[in-house]
Amino acid sequence: MATGLQSHWHNFIDGAWCDAADGRTIAVTDPATGETIAHVPRGGKADIDRAVAAARRAFNDRLMVSMTPAKRGELMFEIARVLGTMADEVAVAEMRDNGKTLAAGYKEVELTQRYLTYYGGLADKLEGRQIPLGDGIIDYTVHMPYGVSAQIVPWNGPLPVGARSIACALITGNTVVLKSPEDSPLSLFILARAMEKAGVPKGAVNIVCGYGLEAGAPLVAHPDIDHIVFTGSVETGKSVLRAAAERVIPAVMELGGKSAAVVYADADLDRTAKNVARGIFHHAGQICSAASRLLVHHSVHDALVSRIKAEAETRTVGPGVEGATMGPVISEKQLSRIEALCAAGVSEGATLVTGGKRLERDGFFLPPTIFAGVSPAMRIANEEFFGPVLVVIPFATPEEAVAIANGTDYGLAAGVFTRDLHLAHWTADRLVAGQVYVNDWWVGGVETPFGGAKRSGYGREKGQEALLGYVQTKNIGIRL
Ligand code: NAD
Repeated sequence: MATGLQSHWHNFIDGAWCDAADGRTIAVTDPATGETIAHVPRGGKADIDRAVAAARRAFNDRLMVSMTPAKRGELMFEIARVLGTMADEVAVAEMRDNGKTLAAGYKEVELTQRYLTYYGGLADKLEGRQIPLGDGIIDYTVHMPYGVSAQIVPWNGPLPVGARSIACALITGNTVVLKSPEDSPLSLFILARAMEKAGVPKGAVNIVCGYGLEAGAPLVAHPDIDHIVFTGSVETGKSVLRAAAERVIPAVMELGGKSAAVVYADADLDRTAKNVARGIFHHAGQICSAASRLLVHHSVHDALVSRIKAEAETRTVGPGVEGATMGPVISEKQLSRIEALCAAGVSEGATLVTGGKRLERDGFFLPPTIFAGVSPAMRIANEEFFGPVLVVIPFATPEEAVAIANGTDYGLAAGVFTRDLHLAHWTADRLVAGQVYVNDWWVGGVETPFGGAKRSGYGREKGQEALLGYVQTKNIGIRL
């Protein structure tokens, strides 16, 4: 089917566009149809080696460091501007390789521009300290870039997730090799084109597509990288960390979640239902910080579940090109995994309120799915679906709610819904999560730090905090 997109894409290494060294390609599938829509390079070790060598050269030649911080900031503004001229192409790419709606594709462009301009604005504001040591000594700290930053991005939001890490790396003087996700690689290639047009120095950013084991693993194990930013699953994150430990290099880890929305009896149920439905069904639940567990006071359990079910039924599930409001999950593999976990929920005794079975049509569609009567020990209460599946667990007291919310391995996000400010704060204070949303899921923006606790990872992306993950402090003491 014609997509209006180019059919053959290239890696971006050392400022040039190239096929994989061995010429192999990956067929990119439209998850809404199952059809092949493009071919991208199946990068491997040889491509990673070239990309790391280019980034190393760019770093050693001080291409970013020698640019004034203000100029680095202007470069981010220019990338954002150029990307804006490519918005139509990006939105279609996000719809076709990622299963987003067209509107969501445009939103990804806006969000990416916000990251670029936000970090562009911070480029000349990362200041060190002067430390008083008395007469005859001047002592001060500077933020030193690590060097070559190796970045690995998942398929669910490659453009903004990739762009925010690239922006943080560049404005702090690092150079980058980014391994783009094999399932949805197109939008990051378009970003590379925007960076090329905006004048990013040759070799400062290199984008290589390939499979995790063939391209991702050689990248994180490469002897000439200095820093890792990994966004993906906990299991892959552990192997990335083993590679980082081998060479004692730092890593920012943005991993999975099983985030709980805690709803007290006094919450505004209509608003909460809309909120939780958005929190779990947006992008078919393929968001790390999705509201995937609903912990609800037993007295309002039935009233809230029926409202969320009604909300679920307002979603039209289908391809973005048909104007559907909820798209597919990314792949057959992912859909089968989610269905198997749903089947485990049924056999463990949870009540399937709606959904749970794929749509009988081409593509990888699961309708919004809700399980009620879930107990905290069940698999579906602990494992990440990364799909449009909500599990509902009743509770009786705030202490019980907090214990259940904190009872998984994850600690990415959490939410509290109540009209009682004291209770909201009491709960937020006790939730072990990198971010807590009160009375609205996803309160925050590019300005607010984002990251995980426990197995959801460490380090922060977004906000000013993120920059501290891309630099190390150097103290300079001068005896006069
Ligand atoms: P994944 O871990 O399977 O893959 C993530 C990336 O790692 C991909 O680019 C993949 O090619 C690469 N990879 C796979 N094996 C590798 C290896 N051995 N060495 C190096 N790289 C390797 O995750 P996924 O299924 O693509 O993404 C979904 C997961 O990502 C979910 O768990 C989700 O919660 C998480 N996620 C987290 C955040 C966050 O900010 N915390 C954001 C988005 C997604």
